[in-house]
Amino acid sequence: MDQTERNKRQSIIDHCLEMNRSGLNQGTSGNISVRHEDGLLITPTSIPYESLSPEDIVFLDANAEPHGPHKPSSEWRFHKDILDARPEANSVVHAHPTYCTTLAIMGMEIPAIHYMLAVFGGPNIRLAPYAIYGSKKLSDYAVEALRDRKACLLDHHGSIAIGASLEQAMWFAVELETLARQYHGCLQLGDPPLLTDQQIQDVIDKIAGYGLSDD
Ligand SMILES: [Zn+2]
Repeated sequence: MDQTERNKRQSIIDHCLEMNRSGLNQGTSGNISVRHEDGLLITPTSIPYESLSPEDIVFLDANAEPHGPHKPSSEWRFHKDILDARPEANSVVHAHPTYCTTLAIMGMEIPAIHYMLAVFGGPNIRLAPYAIYGSKKLSDYAVEALRDRKACLLDHHGSIAIGASLEQAMWFAVELETLARQYHGCLQLGDPPLLTDQQIQDVIDKIAGYGLSDD
């Protein structure tokens, strides 16, 4: 393996560790993939992040054949299907963050409670219907919920975020959990007023022109 590939593999491990340190995830329930050659690099199943080395990361080729000493994450299917469906994305971050998962259990999507929703591509973060983990059905639901969006929730499960890079996908995953936490807080006080689709569209247009900065 060359240095570039080794760096990619190490970066996956570093972000897994960061995901647990920051409280975004617990145990090994989260998983991360990064596009590589005609396939993707993905975390192996059931191995604590602390004991991972670059060789443990699994390469899944274009035919979904795993290469390496371990089995890929049980969620490899939606990682592969999302990267196949979204050529602009190069990384997928999946986790079970507390607030995202709380809303998902309650069958809720995240509506336009904050202008930062626009960063994700539209006025809501959709909830993909429930299907058992690792299934083709769950993968299909996730790809559909992610249409024109950078993230989605998974019913009774967790969240998925995508990005042009692993750093960006992780940024979306953290921002999504922040929005979920804010929405959860709003719901304690009542029925939150929402921004209109036009107000969200105005932010999308502004980001396209000026980038994301309100300072
Ligand atoms: Zn999961």
